[in-house]
Amino acid sequence: MATKVPEIFGEYVFSDKVMRDKLPKDIYKALRKTIDNNTHLELDVANAVAVAMKEWAIEHGATHFTHWFQPLTGYTAEKHDSFISPGACGEITMEFSGKELVKGEPDASSFPSGGIRATFEARGYTNWDPTSPAFIKDGTLCIPTAFCSYSGEALDKKTPLLRSMEAVSNEAVKLLKLLGRDDVTSVKTTVGPEQEYFLIDEEDYKKRKDLIFTGRTLLGAMPPKGQEMDDHYFGALKPRVAEYMHELDEELWKLGIPAKTKHNEVAPCQHELAPVFDTTNVAVDRNQLTMEVMKKVAKKHGYVCLLHEKPFAGINGSGKHNNWSISTNTGDNLLDPGKTPMENMQFLLFLSAVIAAVDGYADLLRLSVASAGNDHRLGANEAPPAIISIFLGDELMAVIDAIENDKFLDKKGKVTMETGASVLPHFFKDTTDRNRTSPFAFTGNKFEFRSLGSSFSVAGPNTVLNTAVAEELGKFYDVLKGVAKTKLPAAIHDLLQKTIKEHKRVIFNGNGYTDEWVKEAEKRGLYNFRSTPEVLPRLIVKKNMDLFKKHHIYSETELKARYEVMLENYCKTLHIETLTMQEMIVKEFLPAVLSYEDELVNTALSKQALSKNLSTAAEEKQADKLSKLYSKIYDLNVKDAADTKKAQGIADSLKQAKFYHETVIPDMEKLRAAADEAEPLLPDEFLPYPTYGEMLFYV
Ligand code: ADP
Ligand code: MG
Repeated sequence: MATKVPEIFGEYVFSDKVMRDKLPKDIYKALRKTIDNNTHLELDVANAVAVAMKEWAIEHGATHFTHWFQPLTGYTAEKHDSFISPGACGEITMEFSGKELVKGEPDASSFPSGGIRATFEARGYTNWDPTSPAFIKDGTLCIPTAFCSYSGEALDKKTPLLRSMEAVSNEAVKLLKLLGRDDVTSVKTTVGPEQEYFLIDEEDYKKRKDLIFTGRTLLGAMPPKGQEMDDHYFGALKPRVAEYMHELDEELWKLGIPAKTKHNEVAPCQHELAPVFDTTNVAVDRNQLTMEVMKKVAKKHGYVCLLHEKPFAGINGSGKHNNWSISTNTGDNLLDPGKTPMENMQFLLFLSAVIAAVDGYADLLRLSVASAGNDHRLGANEAPPAIISIFLGDELMAVIDAIENDKFLDKKGKVTMETGASVLPHFFKDTTDRNRTSPFAFTGNKFEFRSLGSSFSVAGPNTVLNTAVAEELGKFYDVLKGVAKTKLPAAIHDLLQKTIKEHKRVIFNGNGYTDEWVKEAEKRGLYNFRSTPEVLPRLIVKKNMDLFKKHHIYSETELKARYEVMLENYCKTLHIETLTMQEMIVKEFLPAVLSYEDELVNTALSKQALSKNLSTAAEEKQADKLSKLYSKIYDLNVKDAADTKKAQGIADSLKQAKFYHETVIPDMEKLRAAADEAEPLLPDEFLPYPTYGEMLFYV
């Protein structure tokens, strides 16, 4: 039976509509005020909301509740408590109080804290984020929360994100007031994350320790066919995949996630899902949920969903495109060029603020997408380069040029000397050319930050983006605040011109995959951080710490803690990868080589025993080849193991991360190259795990 989408959509969400239906009017109003204006929530309101939430949850089959939060692991965390409360006579009632809704006290000692949370104070607190709706998942009412330490430092990804949204709102409202926009009382940044993923057979997955332990294949030769035919991109969905996607859509819809677009991606077995955009913190929560549901539904279909940035060498990896914009509470998209000179002025101010932000804090943006997994993609001609630049497209570029050089454009974009009501050029909605190689592209009424890895929480990159834009909007406000109304257009013109002159180096409309761009970017003085250990120290340089402190996003303690966590995370990831590789080599791959060598030698011996006339040259040659590769792989593995030990002995975490990057990764690459050379010489039945060909083309 066909599903009626409107009926199931949001079935498991304690949505605005449900709240309106279930809550007394005054309570609903008070809660709405808290959500819209960030005001304090009184306990009696919380109590009333808790009762309604519990009743609704129980009606929908929930028995438990959990504070759902996003620790620095990058995953979500939950600890379930049932609603059960025993009475005096052995009976039970189902209880849930305002206090339980608003605050939780999970034992936080096992979550990464970068040293913030001293071990004697293991408690952490979770605080309800009423701006993201509660939902039911597997019989549990999930309450989105922020997670902090006893002394109030953020231990999660959500708290800084919420702080950064507030910063943008404050700065944007101030600036808009100067433009006469008294109607705007708050702005929200919006995000639509496009999510890429791979689906492979669970049976194959189970046979690969590398996929199980690290999420990516550490060994594996290229099959005869890869992605070179471009026959997968937007190709027809295979029935089994279509069934998966169908169920995935339905499960997401039930959770109120507006899954919208789905298609095959470039690599075999690779797909993409994009939802309709939402307010940033809601989009962050929903993207985390989407990744979880993707994995869960995959299991039901005999698949495993891989979200690693580079599951297969030599084949495109997976990323996430973070579409981002700013909207006012009155419903205007501030990155929409609009139709009137006034709207254009507003647009140009916000556009230039983004340009200045991306140029001024390109290092932080790069850092926000840095991980061991994403290091395989950025700059490898499948994803944007590690150099952060902005793509504007030709039409908008003409506008920018006109402002910079005091030229004026007519309605067709031609240069005239006309000075109209505004000193800014008139222009029309940009039709936006497409450029797939830019890390940060303007796409008509939003920017698309394309460098994120597929497994990322989108919280980090958006925290940086929001904060940097808040900073530039604040600077604009400072320049314009004292200016008389009549002089405002001229002052804005000058400000825009100055901003463009200062920051246009970050604008690049060409092909980001070329070597020329790397050279050109260097000439322009743009950063090019090729790896995670290279970029992480930028988090604690003064300029960047000042930015975060000024806007109350992170304290110095929080920043240093996060820096430690990121370094630790990088080292741990590589440590697990190198150990897994060694284990596969020693326990699986070398024995396989040896068995086949043995078979060849035995065949030769039996042939010789049978008759001196039978040639054994081929067996001997093949055995010799394998024998040499065996020694080579053996030696490389010994070196990798020795270097892994050395890495472990390095106490300083930055030095350790660099050692992994500079020594252990090359060790692993050499080891892999030797093994991948031997792999095609082995018959399938000797190989201990499925090949790339089997995994990618038989799904
Ligand atoms: P493409 O593949 O061409 O980049 P898609 O249509 O797949 O584009 O995805 C575009 C994404 O951008 C969608 O998730 C969409 O909801 C989102 N988006 C559209 N407008 C905005 C906006 N104002 N703010 C944030 N995201 C937006
Ligand atoms: Mg896109």
